[in-house]
Amino acid sequence: MSFLNQTYQNLTPYTPGEQVDEAAYIKLNTNESPYPPAPNVQKAVAEAAQKLNRYSDIAVEAVAKPLAKYLGVKQEQLFLGNGSDEVLSYIFQGFTEKGIAFPDVTYGFYQVYSGLYQVESTVVPLKEDFSLDLAEYDAFKGTVIFANPNAPTGIYLPQEEICAFLERHPDRLVVVDEAYIDFGGKSMVSLINQYKNLFVIGTFSKSRQLAGARLGFGIGNTDLIADLNRLRFSLNPYNVNSLTQAAGGAVLQEQVYVDQKVQETIKVREWSKQELTKLGFEQTDSQGNFLFAKHPKLSGESLFLALREKKILVRWFNQPRTKDYLRITVGTKEQMEQLIAVLTTILNEVKA
Ligand SMILES: *Cc1c(COP(=O)(O)O)cnc(C)c1O
Repeated sequence: MSFLNQTYQNLTPYTPGEQVDEAAYIKLNTNESPYPPAPNVQKAVAEAAQKLNRYSDIAVEAVAKPLAKYLGVKQEQLFLGNGSDEVLSYIFQGFTEKGIAFPDVTYGFYQVYSGLYQVESTVVPLKEDFSLDLAEYDAFKGTVIFANPNAPTGIYLPQEEICAFLERHPDRLVVVDEAYIDFGGKSMVSLINQYKNLFVIGTFSKSRQLAGARLGFGIGNTDLIADLNRLRFSLNPYNVNSLTQAAGGAVLQEQVYVDQKVQETIKVREWSKQELTKLGFEQTDSQGNFLFAKHPKLSGESLFLALREKKILVRWFNQPRTKDYLRITVGTKEQMEQLIAVLTTILNEVKA
C-alpha cells in the first residue's frame, strides 16, 4: 500500500552517482573537485558552527555581497539556493507555463523536474556530433534550458549563438546552466542587463570545492529574482544554512586558490584527453571538468565494470545515444595517471 498521491506514483527520480569510501576507490564519477576547500574555508565553517542555535540569514549576505561583486551584478539580480539543483527546481516549478524544451543528452534533472512539476517538456535531439543548434528551438513557444558547457558531453556553445536566440525570442525565458563555465567558455552573466529574458545558473559544487555544502545561484533581472523569492519564501526561506553561508563567503575570499585548482584541472584535462586518444578513445572536446569518451573495442558498460573492478569509479549512462561512452571526472594528475595505467592494462587484455 502507498499513501503517496496518485500524481507522484509514476515519478522517475534522479539517479545520483555513487558516493563511496574514498580510501578504497579513485572517485571520478560525480564531477566534484578532487581538492579539499582551502583551510580558511574550513575554519570559517567551524566558527559558524558556534552560532547554529540561530536561524540562518535569509538575505544570505555573507555570500550575496562578495558574489555580486565578483560577478559584477547587483545583489537584487542574484538568487541563492541550496545547490543549483534547488534554483533549477524553482524554474521548472514556476516559469514553465508554456512548457520547457531541452536537449536529449543533458543534465538528468531537467527531465526529473519536468515530471515532478508536470511540465510539458519538449526534448530536442542534439546533432549527430552532440552539438546544440538553437535554431531547432525556434518553432517552439515556452522556456528553453540547456547547460553550457553541456553535460555529459562537455561541448560549449559559443556566446554569439545564445545572444542571437535571445534576440529572436525576447518573450521567452532562456535558462543557461553554467555549472562548468569556470573550466571553459565565456559566461553569459556579463550580458544580464542586456537581456531581460536571460537567466544564468551557477554553482559552488564543481569549481569551488563545495559540492557537499550545497550552494548554487542564479542571475537574472530584478523582477525574475523577486518572483523566485516569492516561491522561495513560500517553501523554505532558510534554504541556505549558516554553515554553507560561512563556507561560501570564505571561498570567495580564496579566489587565488580556486583559480589555481581550476587551472590545474584544465591542464590535467588536456593531458588526459591526449592520453585517451593515444589509447584509441574517441572523445568530444570537453570544456568541463570531465571527459566524455568511448572506445571502439569495448562497450561503455564493460569498460565501466572493468574500471570498477580495479577500484576506479566513472559514470556510465545507460541511454541509447550515450551507452558507448564513459563520463570521467578530471581528478588530480596522479589519479588520472592511474586511470590511464589501468585502462592500458584493460585494453591489453582485450588484445591478448
Ligand atoms: C552538477 C550540476 C548541477 C547541480 O549542481 P549543484 O549546485 O550541486 O546542485 C546543475 N547543472 C549541471 C549541468 C550540473 O552538472
